[in-house]
Amino acid sequence: MRKPLIAGNWKMHGSLPQVDTLVQGITQGAKADPKIDILVLPTFIHLAQVHALLSHSPVMLGAQNLYLGQQGAFTGEVSGTMLKEVGCQFVLIGHSERRHLFHEDLALVAAKFKAALEAGLKPILCIGETQQEREQNQTETVIRSQLESVIQFAGISALQQAVIAYEPVWAIGTGLTATPEQAQTVHATIRGLIAQNNVDLADTIRILYGGSMKAENAASLLAMPDIDGGLIGGASLNAASFLAICSAAEASL
Ligand code: PEP
Repeated sequence: MRKPLIAGNWKMHGSLPQVDTLVQGITQGAKADPKIDILVLPTFIHLAQVHALLSHSPVMLGAQNLYLGQQGAFTGEVSGTMLKEVGCQFVLIGHSERRHLFHEDLALVAAKFKAALEAGLKPILCIGETQQEREQNQTETVIRSQLESVIQFAGISALQQAVIAYEPVWAIGTGLTATPEQAQTVHATIRGLIAQNNVDLADTIRILYGGSMKAENAASLLAMPDIDGGLIGGASLNAASFLAICSAAEASL
């Protein structure tokens, strides 16, 4: 049985008081002993503040990005070791905004994935096709290359500590959502690709859906057999809507 994970990607949002209010709303509303894993991913600048606010809460902390190595002359970057030191357990790797806006290629994403593991962080590897790739029936090819580049570089056993997030690029921040059936098809494909390397791992690895998931559509997506949680952008910035998605995940058990 895979434990659902609901993760809130706050992207470049929040001020000190807004973050305070959001975390308090989430921690007050979250059950003391939830049957699911709950994770928030604030900006780098808010990590220490959120870590302190989460000290008596089951809600976990993660970051949205990292750079390779432990330290060095990489102006503007933050290492996995630094993230671990401020209480992060997870880190997003290869989010489509990093791949497309910041030109992170397959090799850099694979290197970041390995760097996360070396720092003792659990990578959440984001993969997904663009609208054009879907229209050209390239979804499986894209997913396969995004997954295989990591497996080839880090080894299949590296996925043991990881979570996969299927995020169709056309659904991120657009209000468009993959239908539960569309998402399930790709999730099953991802699990099948992993099973070609390791059947047990394919059975245990969590595959999240991301792309305009919200309170209204969460239950139907989370009811799908291969959807093990959600990576939530916009709807994670409001405690009530984030908690409603968490409740839908609990109800799906
Ligand atoms: C995301 O950024 O990972 C995401 C899924 O965003 P949204 O929920 O806003 O589409």
